[in-house]
Amino acid sequence: MTPRVRFAPSPTGFLHVGGARTALFNWLYARRTGGTFVLRIEDTDAARNTEEAVQVIYDGLRWLGIEWDEGPLVGGDRGPYFQSERNAIYERYFQRLQDGGHLYTEENGATRFRSPRETVVVEDAVCGSVPFDLSDPTTHPDMTIRRPDGSWIFHFVNVVDDIEMGITHVMRGEDHLSNTPKHMELYRALGATPPVWAHIPLILKKDGKGKMSKRDEGSSVASYIADGYAPEGVRNFLCLLGWSPKDNREKIPIEEVIPLFDLDKINRRNAAFDLEKCAWLSGEWFREMPPERHRALAWEALVRAGVDLARFPAEYVQQALDTCQGKLRVLKDLPAYAGFYFRDDYPIDPAAAGKHLTSETKPRLEAVRTALAGLPDWDVTSIETVLKTLATQFGVKLGAFLQPVRVMLTGSTAGPSMYHLVEILGREKVLERLDRSF
Ligand code: GLU
Repeated sequence: MTPRVRFAPSPTGFLHVGGARTALFNWLYARRTGGTFVLRIEDTDAARNTEEAVQVIYDGLRWLGIEWDEGPLVGGDRGPYFQSERNAIYERYFQRLQDGGHLYTEENGATRFRSPRETVVVEDAVCGSVPFDLSDPTTHPDMTIRRPDGSWIFHFVNVVDDIEMGITHVMRGEDHLSNTPKHMELYRALGATPPVWAHIPLILKKDGKGKMSKRDEGSSVASYIADGYAPEGVRNFLCLLGWSPKDNREKIPIEEVIPLFDLDKINRRNAAFDLEKCAWLSGEWFREMPPERHRALAWEALVRAGVDLARFPAEYVQQALDTCQGKLRVLKDLPAYAGFYFRDDYPIDPAAAGKHLTSETKPRLEAVRTALAGLPDWDVTSIETVLKTLATQFGVKLGAFLQPVRVMLTGSTAGPSMYHLVEILGREKVLERLDRSF
């Protein structure tokens, strides 16, 4: 049977990294097995669900490159893919439980499922064989199926949807393991075969003390989008939260993860969350991605920061962005790093000015200005040669000689390759900037 897996988030307005990792593991499994990855929106809690909250899920998954094969926006023949639109199906299954004598109604109007009160053993592909003794009603009260107001309880609709959507493998967070015996009771009562269960260990804070919460830095996928991480890097990072290739590699392309991924390779131990490692991976991915891809992401990050790139020739922007590739771990730092390319009133770092723009460096800057003004060929090699020659003439180490020039041209002591940025800025801008007084 071709696997059918799903990600079934509730739209809370927040896509947690744990949720994204669950989605990714399901997606990986579908890709490895040639199966189908379904997205289902569990929006039974009408008060909390909004269109924007659903959009957060779409945006997060798409940014990570986790495309769903069936679900909202893309369709499929097992829909609708919103629980809020599946009421007729739930009524049908409710009737089936009723006809089977599994339900009873309480005085307040709530409907409960009569537990068979047995020991249910969850055979889990990650956690192993886990027995749950459900015999004691004080610790395991009969679950509610339907509230007095007619609304459905999570357990029931979740199971009905998995049955109706033909889900063969349920991979989800370990926080749901304790729900699973209840779900198995429902499968049995409905005469349906339960899926393969795989409960993925939780994500812990970096120090390993406690579950990662909504308030912890890096818990929301939206924060990675806003901070300009490399999506490939974050996805790579999520792959390593609870799974690893056996050769200790860290940076690993998704095409290589897919054939290696399997349920029995998921770690049983909880994964500790290390945002520093994620930022490092992001930097590695930026360095090694094709320049066109970097340009597109960098372009987006600058425009988001309010830089008006449309004012510049495309080729200029492209060359400028290429000098920044591989220099930053996250693109939220790009406006500060590359801003001088796109504005003439870039801020001058006062510490850098205090150190490098002095009476001692003034004559050197003037010499640079004169030499660059008279340079016959404006290209990287000529620029490099002339600056090196001048450094020697002044008897100053090259690095030290270049710093004042860099501060004049960019406002900072850190930035892209000096010779390249001089070439790209062009003679006119360079001379104008060197002419400025300090
Ligand atoms: N809506 C549930 C959640 O967000 C889905 C649980 C499941 O995957 O079965 O946790």
